[in-house]
Amino acid sequence: MKKNDVVTVTIEDFGVGGEGIGKIDGYALFIKDAVIGDVVEAKVMKAKKNYGYGKLQKIIRPSEHRVMPRCPIARQCGGCQMQAVSYDKQLEYKNRKVWNNLKRIGGIPEKLLEAVMEPPCGMEEPYRYRNKAQFPIGRDKNGRLAAGFYAGRTHQIIPCDDCCLGMKVNQEILDRLLSFMEKYHIEPYDEAEHKGLVRHVLIRYGFATDEIMVCLVINGKELPHARELTEELREISGMMSISVSRNTEKTNVIMGKEIAVLWGQGFITDYIGEIKYQISPLSFYQVNPVQTRNLYETALEYAGLHGTETVWDLYCGIGTISLFLAQRAGRVYGVEIVPQAVEDARKNAEINGIGNAQFFAGKAEEVLPGYYEEYAAGHPGQRAGADVIVVDPPRKGCEESVLETMVRMQPERIVYVSCDSATLARDAAYLRENGYEVERGKVTDMFPQTCHTECVLGMQRKE
Ligand code: SAH
Repeated sequence: MKKNDVVTVTIEDFGVGGEGIGKIDGYALFIKDAVIGDVVEAKVMKAKKNYGYGKLQKIIRPSEHRVMPRCPIARQCGGCQMQAVSYDKQLEYKNRKVWNNLKRIGGIPEKLLEAVMEPPCGMEEPYRYRNKAQFPIGRDKNGRLAAGFYAGRTHQIIPCDDCCLGMKVNQEILDRLLSFMEKYHIEPYDEAEHKGLVRHVLIRYGFATDEIMVCLVINGKELPHARELTEELREISGMMSISVSRNTEKTNVIMGKEIAVLWGQGFITDYIGEIKYQISPLSFYQVNPVQTRNLYETALEYAGLHGTETVWDLYCGIGTISLFLAQRAGRVYGVEIVPQAVEDARKNAEINGIGNAQFFAGKAEEVLPGYYEEYAAGHPGQRAGADVIVVDPPRKGCEESVLETMVRMQPERIVYVSCDSATLARDAAYLRENGYEVERGKVTDMFPQTCHTECVLGMQRKE
């Protein structure tokens, strides 16, 4: 196989990024936008010894799993990888990806997985699930003012005011914003020149409350005619907060560090289950509230609480899981590295009248061992006060020192919430070698149409 070869190939599998994989005499060709079951013509773009990358040229025979993407720009937009795949097949693919990792990396036998893994939890309506949107503002290739998305792996703006994963109301907000910018000649940000004012617009929506927040990210001190903009946006039903965030850096980071409220209260409120959250422009909050609730219900169920337990929630963010657990636990300790998130967690505990949750700002790998050393010194021969430990780490998983301390603390159960099943599998292998066994597990699809998924494992201490 060499560059520029054109081949006809049947797609037999999906890769980790949702791309199709075709095989020619054992040679694997990764083809973006090809769907399992397709017969396609592809041009080889890059050829390595045993595998290569191809560009989809023509679909010769479409797969039975191929569907019409809802977004007209699904292929150019970098956001979704799997809109052309039926939702059933997406879910099956994600479930299998997690199983394969648990088997290959985690060394968990197939038989055990069959016994413990529950069916994956997908969405009834796998579109319009996102409560947060961040649209870059710029000029399209014809020089027209536009909001949209970056084309995959570039910073070229593709105009699009209605992402099918987001809320319908985003369109009206963008319409009003762009008309306002045109009327008052306010320039969008030009990344190459580091000039122009409006960089991004962040929109957040409370699913349970229908409250809306808009935050404009600007490359400058102030937004001219801010009053006229707020008057326009306030007419939209549910609008609660309009603000600007100053970001004058040359950076890919979207939000600036400060927020100035132009109108309204500066935050919106939302609920997951019974728990109320205050969300400001800079707060971390899960983007799919329907599946977040399912995920947290699963974590709570796997924690097996009776009301008296001491629970640790590591990597707790704004305390979402901690407060969920606190409803059924004796005491919950949350640990989170971002101090602002810890402040939010404390405030969220307070507005819900939850008094049995306490939060520590710091690295899990420092706070937990530190606590353990101190506790063990003060209570020789005793278990270190953890009945259940819940972890929800970022993609890279837990540091080994965290796992080591968890094992030494000997909780009855460990609940592992993960957004990357490869690192989950690695950490599960460590825990299985050190006295824990997988008892339950479930894939929960937080990000339909993309190749990403969440998974929860419930592990039990062996006698
Ligand atoms: N459980 C929360 C957040 C999960 S995201 C929720 O469901 O909303 C993972 C969190 O881990 C982020 O908030 C991130 O800031 C935090 N984090 C990353 N590295 C960390 C570390 N070493 N120690 C503690 N927290 C960390």
